Amino acid sequence: MDCVFCKIASNEISSKKVYEDGQIVAFNDLDPQAPVHVLIIPKKHIQSADQISDNDTNIIGKIFMVASKIAKELRLENGYRIVNNCGEDGGQTVPHLHFHLMGGRKMNWPAG
Ligand code: AMP
Ligand code: ZN
Repeated sequence: MDCVFCKIASNEISSKKVYEDGQIVAFNDLDPQAPVHVLIIPKKHIQSADQISDNDTNIIGKIFMVASKIAKELRLENGYRIVNNCGEDGGQTVPHLHFHLMGGRKMNWPAG
């Protein structure tokens, strides 16, 4: 499958990984929008948050636990933001489900 995040998960494309287990991988965003900007993805190809099925609910919960673990490791004790862009109007540019973990600065709200 010609999917950049599938290729990152399978190491066909290199990335700076900060976490990996059997189901999930997290790596630094290529174009960081905050001092910490990590993308957390399921290794399984799910196109977007709109395509999450009954079989995936476990992994979605796990992704949020992994986010908290990474945030602790990267010393984001003052808080952080987890973002999912879904579909065209949501600003999704890579069609493989991913969660942005951002921190290290004060975030703005509402996010444009
Ligand atoms: P989104 O706009 O929510 O779909 O986010 C896609 C994110 O993937 C953007 O923040 C990009 O900077 C990031 N990105 C795209 N290609 C790569 C890559 N090869 N390695 C790391 N991050 C990437
Ligand atoms: Zn994929």
